Amino acid sequence: MYGRILTCVYCGHEYPQGTPAAGSEVLTKYIKVCERHPMRKAESDIAMLRAALVGLIGADTEAELRVMEATMRMLPAPDADKAVSINAIHALLATMTPNVSAQPRGFFASAAAPCCALIRWHLS
Ligand SMILES: [Zn+2]
Repeated sequence: MYGRILTCVYCGHEYPQGTPAAGSEVLTKYIKVCERHPMRKAESDIAMLRAALVGLIGADTEAELRVMEATMRMLPAPDADKAVSINAIHALLATMTPNVSAQPRGFFASAAAPCCALIRWHLS
């Protein structure tokens, strides 16, 4: 047999005979678990940044963060100070992992969500 063998460009993992080079569920599934895929580095960077932010903000779960945001908005503090904290809270909410949040959403799914308010958010 001279069948073409499709392999992962990052780790050399061989896909089953006949796997199409694009658009296959086998490919997209493997990309999520390949340890050498660049996405793993991005994910671990996000996890590290998130852990640092959790340490600064002092809250991790979605419920805690929502309460903290509501509280923050009512504080008699300068808007610029509140915006800094609320942006951090939004960043944490946007990067919730399924383990932390009840809602199943990943880093990159949530990064594409409308809560890009991270940078654009302003108190009015
Ligand atoms: Zn791979």
